[in-house]
Amino acid sequence: GHKSRVTVVGSGNWGSVAAKLIAFNTLNLPSFHDEVRMWVFQEILPSGEKLTDVINRTNENVKYLPGIKLGKNVVADADLENAVKDANMLVFVTPHQFMEGICKRLVGKIKEGAEAISLIKGMEVKMEGPCMISSLISSQLKINCCVLMGANIANEIAVEKLSEATVGYRENRETAEKWVQLFSTPYFMVSAIQDVEGVELCGTLKNVVAIAAGLVDGLEMGNNTKAAIMRIGLREMKAFSKLLFPSVKDSTFFESCGVADLITTCLGGRNRKVADAFARNGGQRSFDDLEAEMLQGQKLQGVSTAREVYGVLRHRGWLELFPLFSTVHEISTGRLPPSAIVKYSEQKPIFS
Ligand code: NAD
Ligand code: 13P
Repeated sequence: GHKSRVTVVGSGNWGSVAAKLIAFNTLNLPSFHDEVRMWVFQEILPSGEKLTDVINRTNENVKYLPGIKLGKNVVADADLENAVKDANMLVFVTPHQFMEGICKRLVGKIKEGAEAISLIKGMEVKMEGPCMISSLISSQLKINCCVLMGANIANEIAVEKLSEATVGYRENRETAEKWVQLFSTPYFMVSAIQDVEGVELCGTLKNVVAIAAGLVDGLEMGNNTKAAIMRIGLREMKAFSKLLFPSVKDSTFFESCGVADLITTCLGGRNRKVADAFARNGGQRSFDDLEAEMLQGQKLQGVSTAREVYGVLRHRGWLELFPLFSTVHEISTGRLPPSAIVKYSEQKPIFS
């Protein structure tokens, strides 16, 4: 038969939940092989055991998603090449900073005709300019790559609370529908739109706004100020996206990947949480330190994304047009104090 085999590349907090969603569906849908391979960046736990062994024995990612059964058909594999070699459908979900290295290792190792989807929020900035993670995957591995983004705090989906998500696709609606089918469950409602850049930029840029929102929380400035920061942030997200890709649609910002993800991340995300602590420490402790102390191995994306966005803004001469984005970077590097987020974000008019 022609059953599709699915591999998940990544096994952090969201990667593990993605594997759980997919494993539920591959068991129930005839067009997929039951088994879901999950590539795990290997580590040795305090018990002395390998993380992959514990996942395969207990069916739980005890480090990144403790207490949640992934499904018996999820197989953890620390060997990247082996994990991807038979897959027709590849789901990429690692912190964005690791994807360049992972792609390099995967060149020539992917099955002919395989399809990819990226759940990764972030970008790379090269000499030639910015490169979204889905484009990195497409160009390095010569495969088509959709994206899935949305208001998706992993721990809430893990306990099956209702949420929505958006698949972005470039041309092939049929492939997008296959991804929708693979991810949808009664508590995870996925729809597809033809705007891959818009969807991915929403997911990526809202992490910078979440840092700003966390700073406002840490400064105890109240809900109105936080809402103002979120509004200004959303306008910068839209303006930046459209400057980079004129094809980005306004309607995309009203999907789950847009305003809904912005809201949930600014209320309950990790970027918010660590930025709150950063401001409470008066900027005296670095984001790296606080991340290591507060997140147990999980990774922030907003601080590095702010740096990457800043690089693009400086290179194109757009810094003054994006006071919120640039101020987040200047605060995270210690050039400005946390209080600058309110002082500078409102300073200059932005695009309408
Ligand atoms: P995470 O934040 O839990 O990151 C930890 C993962 O990184 C672990 O699997 C760890 O093994 C791995 N890792 C550490 N060092 C590595 C290395 N050198 N090479 C490769 N892997 C390494 O990861 P996550 O929550 O699954 O996030 C992945 C992506 O999904 C991010 O872009 C994030 O923004 C996005 N996302 C996360 C959530 C969420 O709620 N967690 C929700 C939506 C989207
Ligand atoms: P954080 O990485 O800030 O937790 O955001 C998670 C997320 O992307 C929710 O959709």
